[in-house]
Amino acid sequence: MKLRTAMLLLTLLGGSSFAQDEDLGQAIERARHLSVTEAVPASQPAIDALMKRLDEATPRQRVEIRLLHIRNLALQGDYGKAIGQIKELLGNPISDDQRLRALRLAANLGINVGQHEWGFAQLKAALELSGESDDLVERSRILSLAGFVHSIVGDHERAIDYATQSMAIAGQSGDTSQQCQAGQRLAVAYRYAERYEEARAAARNALSLCRDVNDQVYTGTSELELGHLALEKGDLAAAQRWADRGLERLRQAGWADGVLTGKHLQAQLAAERGESKQAIELAEELIERTDERELWHRKSELHRLVAEQQAEREEFAEAYRHMVAHSEARDRFIDEDRTRRLAILEVEFDMQRQEQELELLREQKRVAELEAQSRRQQARVRWMATGFALFLFLILVLLLVHVLRERRHYRRLSELDGLTRVSNHTRFFDTARMLVEESRRGGHPLVLALGDIDHFKQVNDEHGHIAGDKALRQVARVLCENFPGLGHVGRIGGEEFAVCVPDSQLEPVLEQLEQVRKDLAEIQYGGNGKPLTMSFGVAELAPDEALEDLRKRADEALYEAKGGGRNSVVVAEPERFG
Ligand code: GH3
Ligand code: MG
Ligand code: MG
Repeated sequence: MKLRTAMLLLTLLGGSSFAQDEDLGQAIERARHLSVTEAVPASQPAIDALMKRLDEATPRQRVEIRLLHIRNLALQGDYGKAIGQIKELLGNPISDDQRLRALRLAANLGINVGQHEWGFAQLKAALELSGESDDLVERSRILSLAGFVHSIVGDHERAIDYATQSMAIAGQSGDTSQQCQAGQRLAVAYRYAERYEEARAAARNALSLCRDVNDQVYTGTSELELGHLALEKGDLAAAQRWADRGLERLRQAGWADGVLTGKHLQAQLAAERGESKQAIELAEELIERTDERELWHRKSELHRLVAEQQAEREEFAEAYRHMVAHSEARDRFIDEDRTRRLAILEVEFDMQRQEQELELLREQKRVAELEAQSRRQQARVRWMATGFALFLFLILVLLLVHVLRERRHYRRLSELDGLTRVSNHTRFFDTARMLVEESRRGGHPLVLALGDIDHFKQVNDEHGHIAGDKALRQVARVLCENFPGLGHVGRIGGEEFAVCVPDSQLEPVLEQLEQVRKDLAEIQYGGNGKPLTMSFGVAELAPDEALEDLRKRADEALYEAKGGGRNSVVVAEPERFG
């Protein structure tokens, strides 16, 4: 609500300037209308008036006025000024639709004055910009111009293609004025391609459309077009009619180039009719005008026409002069034509290159995507391979650990006595041998005790083997308990045990064996209260004594203990050397 009130206030406050704006807008519209329907002299005062009001114009209106002004400059043949001003206009930021029109006008001007590269570049820019425009009329105009440009460089197929497109889009737009212009350009495209019947049909259609909208320039141009076509057919009377009509109309419209074209046609017609004097007069007048504009093709054509007419009149010196001039102008035209063709090739090549670059970019993008994809796949495969390898490694490690454990287990099983879980005969003596070696090397003491359960046969006999086994396990436990740590216990026979105690003197071992005998006495293996007793033979390692000798001495001491009534510990005689 507030916004609306503010806007209303603004409108009221700015009422006068708003009204003036509208006046200016209407004035621009009037001038635009005049510039299309009337001759330059008629529209010029309106445009001059607008040029004086530039200060009060909006930026958009200013561009509109300038475009009208530049167009009139061009129509009057003041191309240098027109080009300078259009360049200035394009150098400033303007809206896309106005830029499109300015580019088209610039292209037109550039091509007209032979600044082909520049002109074609403007056209190319316009064609590119028009693709985004939804202004059908403007698009049709640009395509028309593209058609014309291709006609003059001799690319007739493309010229007809552009002109046909232009005509079709003009039809879609419903703008008769543009249909008139596009139709005229289509006729030119056909004539240059020497498809005269189609050219005639297009020109007639254009003429009727142009008359409908009262477009003086294009009506005149279409009439001249029909004049050219009639001349081509050899219908000189019709050609003259069209030429006169067209020329008169273009003269009224004030289009200098159109007048030049019309007069040239008249000169040609006069020459065709054999009216050489008139033809020469007309042509010579035109030659002077072509000098200002470097219209080499037209100039060379005119010189040739004069030269031929002079020759007819047997004025050979003049004819020769014109032939030379014709030849020079022709050379210049060929140069210009080459430049023009090159210029358009540059533009087209550029378009092609853009396409190629685009395609290259697309290709690069595709390759990059494929590479990324393959990198991702490779990474995935690497991960999978690494994972799989790790998994395998883990499995192998587990298997190895398992195998090692099993091996250790079985080795231990093979080294342990299955019944009592102490070392078996083999392991006990392997260990004992190692300990003896170490003791000998270090000069440390070592004691070996061999024990045999007394009357064990009776235990079995009286209480059975199971009770016997149990007693064996109990003996092993008691021994282990009394010789923990370094003391190494083994079952070396049925009911025979052995203890190897490194780093120990005899005394502590004897004390421990006493404790063993006490502990064994506590064990009840039968119901009759008979204690379990053991006999021990103990020997202390002598320096440099071998295990076998030590064992032998301990064994003898054990035998002695048995012989002495059992349940006792006998210490072996120390080894004597010598
Ligand atoms: P001594 O006091 O003279 O040593 O008499 P002993 O009966 O202990 O000696 P002997 O050599 O005559 O008998 C040993 C017995 O030990 C014979 C056997 O039945 C028994 N024995 C050997 N190994 C085992 C065993 O693994 N389990 C059981 N239950 N008895 C065993
Ligand atoms: Mg025995
Ligand atoms: Mg025994």
